Amino acid sequence: MPFTPYHMGPAFPVKGASGARFSLLLYGYTQVLMDIEALYRILNHEPELHGFSHTFIGATLIGAVALVTGKPLVEFWLKCWNRLINITHAEQFLVVEKIHWKAALSTVAIGSWLHIVLDAIMHHDVHPFAPFSEANPFLRIIDVRELHLFCITTALFGLAWIGVASLLPVRRPEN
Ligand SMILES: [Zn+2]
Repeated sequence: MPFTPYHMGPAFPVKGASGARFSLLLYGYTQVLMDIEALYRILNHEPELHGFSHTFIGATLIGAVALVTGKPLVEFWLKCWNRLINITHAEQFLVVEKIHWKAALSTVAIGSWLHIVLDAIMHHDVHPFAPFSEANPFLRIIDVRELHLFCITTALFGLAWIGVASLLPVRRPEN
């Protein structure tokens, strides 16, 4: 699913359950990094779109890059957001600017590894355990329509969860 919003779906209930211990923005950033190789292959008209980036080893390395580069980037963006909010006096939209390292680590781990599983279900050219094995045990464990439905359903459910959580006085969607 290169560059489709479907990858974001399961992140929303995780955010609803985890609050500040999970960053939606950092998760999204990880999804983009994960598919840079696929974009390169699309632009070069290569027959197979998924290579090293779509293995668990590759995803772990990309997750590490996402952690080191994405955490400061997202925190900078959140800081800019709060400046804008302060200017417009819409304080109810203020967010927590800092992402704890543990939260960032779990976000990029979930983001990169779940990306592999979702793509491996859909694409025959994903080899999650390469170079040790070319097998893809995830391929079509559910069909593509069910996979898309799962992503859409989790997105809607998670958004509703985050919406309800944001109305509670002790919780708000930080990022
Ligand atoms: Zn992908």
